[in-house]
This record gives sequence, C-alpha cells and structure tokens, in this order.
Amino acid sequence: SMSADAYSRLHEITVSGGDVPAPFTSFEVAGFPSEILREVHNAGFPSPTPIQAQSWPITLQGRDIVAVAKTGSGKTLGYLIPGFIHLKNCRNDPRMGPTVLVLAPTRELATQIQDEAVKFGRSSRISCTCLYGGAPKGPQLRDLDRGVDIVVATPGRLNDILEMRRISLHQVSYLVLDEADRMLDMGFEPQIRKIVKEVPARRQTLMFTATWPKEVRKIAADLLVKPVQVNIGNVDE
Ligand code: ADP
Ligand code: MG
Repeated sequence: SMSADAYSRLHEITVSGGDVPAPFTSFEVAGFPSEILREVHNAGFPSPTPIQAQSWPITLQGRDIVAVAKTGSGKTLGYLIPGFIHLKNCRNDPRMGPTVLVLAPTRELATQIQDEAVKFGRSSRISCTCLYGGAPKGPQLRDLDRGVDIVVATPGRLNDILEMRRISLHQVSYLVLDEADRMLDMGFEPQIRKIVKEVPARRQTLMFTATWPKEVRKIAADLLVKPVQVNIGNVDE
C-alpha cells in the first residue's frame, strides 16, 4: 500500500494545524468498529474518499476541524462515521436531547444527510431525525419526544423549536456545520449563532464547506477551537 505522503500528494490533500495524523488510506487502517465496517462494505465502497481519509483520524482525536472539499467528495460520511463512534463512547439518554447536531442549509440536504445516517447507522442502532421548514411541526416534535441521538436540522426550523422549548441542546457534544458556505449565503448566520449559544462550550465542532470565503473563515474563527484544516485540491475562495 501507498505511503501517507504519497497518498496526500496524489489526492492533493493539504493540512494546517499542529501534529496532524496521517490519512487513513484504507478502511482497514481506520480500525472502525465492526458494525461500521459492515455498513461501508455493504455499500460497496472500495476505499475512503480523500476528505474522509484525512478528516477521520483528526476527528477521531476529538479535535475541531474545518474540511474544505468540493461537492460530491463524500463529506457526509466524513463527519457521520466519527459521529457514530463519538456516540458509542458517550451515549446520553436520547430523551434528554440529541448528542450529535448537524446543521444544513436546506430541507433536501437535511433529508439526504438523515438518509445516510439511517443507512450507515443501522448496525450501530443509532436514531436520527430531521427538522426542516415548510412541513408541519407535529411529526417532528413527536420524533423528538421519542428521543434521538442525532438531529439534522435547518437553522430556521431548529430555532423555532428551540423557542417553543421543545428541544434541549444541552447534551450536544458533537456539532457539525455542513455546507457552511451555503448556510451563510442563505443568510443563516444569526440563526446559527443563536443555536450555538444553546450548545455547551465543551464540545467538538466540525465545519464542512465547498468553498472558503472570508465570511466562513470569520464564523469558523468564532465557533471552532484550534481547528485543524484539511483542503482537497485547490481551495476556491
Ligand atoms: P459531499 O457532501 O461532499 O457533496 P456526499 O457525502 O453527498 O458528498 O457523497 C457523495 C456520494 O458519494 C454519495 O452518494 C455517497 O454515498 C458516496 N460516497 C461516500 N463515501 C464514499 C466512498 N468512500 N466511496 C464511494 N462512494 C462514496
Ligand atoms: Mg454534503
């Protein structure tokens, strides 16, 4: 198999931050729990994508991360699989609120993320629900009341439900901002900041984005602590 350096050059992986671990060039070297390996094998995935290969070892160290890679590069599992492992290590009572919170810009994306979480989290017995606008709140509130490990939400709907005091974020210890650039383009920054105020400061924060403009840099600097940054290819600003 290829050396970590050769792998990083081949896939144009660049990193910044101290003591960055080597990429997981295969699923075998990742050492995932067997229930997770089973799901990636069932999906027929031959190997990690470059963003997965480099972000998994960093995230599994419990560190904050900014991951910049273009659409279609496998970012969803880049944060979901370490999220499953995080849940395995610190599972709270899901009726007290989610442990993992993923923010995403649109209903379509939130639904796709939930589908991926359900599919790949099945063997790990992970529960996940999705909160988005343009749909009645009743079923979403009922799902929350049953208890969930992972909530995937658009910022607007999550704020509405927070204001109704029908969700607590006090158990969240793994926070993901997915498609951060699009969320900011859509004007969600104030909503995101309100939500993050409800999440304990003692948490791991992950930011995934396709581009790295100054607005995204600013919110990353405010919400993440000593993040490691991973870029795949030329970063489009
Ligand atoms: P992004 O969030 O970067 O746009 P996605 O997470 O939506 O990308 O992934 C794009 C597609 O690639 C999805 O269909 C996903 O299931 C698939 N995929 C994810 N990881 C792998 C992998 N390691 N090998 C092959 N396909 C993968
Ligand atoms: Mg994505």
